[in-house]
Amino acid sequence: MTRTAIYPGTFDPITLGHVDVVRRGLKLFDRVVIGVAANPNKQPRFDLNTRLAMVRQTFVGDDRIEAIAFDGLLVELARQQKAKAILRGLRAASDFEYEFQMATMNRRLEESIETVFVMAREDYTFVSSRFIREISSMGGDVSELVPPVVIPYLKKSTQP
Ligand code: ADP
Repeated sequence: MTRTAIYPGTFDPITLGHVDVVRRGLKLFDRVVIGVAANPNKQPRFDLNTRLAMVRQTFVGDDRIEAIAFDGLLVELARQQKAKAILRGLRAASDFEYEFQMATMNRRLEESIETVFVMAREDYTFVSSRFIREISSMGGDVSELVPPVVIPYLKKSTQP
């Protein structure tokens, strides 16, 4: 039986922190499906197709990893994908409250799906998509914090 986890997020853009979460997830699961959330209320910098393309290009060639867009309920996506787990990453105590609420709500919606948390690698605890967007829009170098495929997208998005 294939053990599948769903890793949901906005990925605006994908960072090496996200990549680390996926790699850790693959120690526990056979397959990780990355769910790129439409999340219009967050007003993402990159549109959904671009965020999805960046995720797919990051993991190209690894058939244990898939990426799909979704705009409905996460537990629905998990059911569709026959996933028994939701994978999330924790960086600091500040992540906890939101993650706790989301995991509890998802459990109410679907008791059989477990949320599994993995800890960020120490060097990436400060890495967030928001931080990447801000630093790169001010001309800062983020090349050690994002997958190489993301760099041209960041450059394009900050061109006047
Ligand atoms: P969301 O909008 O759902 O928070 P994100 O793309 O910001 O989406 O994050 C998706 C998940 O990845 C969250 O669980 C978040 O805590 C986790 N995450 C983000 N950055 C890191 C990182 N540097 N290390 C570990 N986990 C991370």
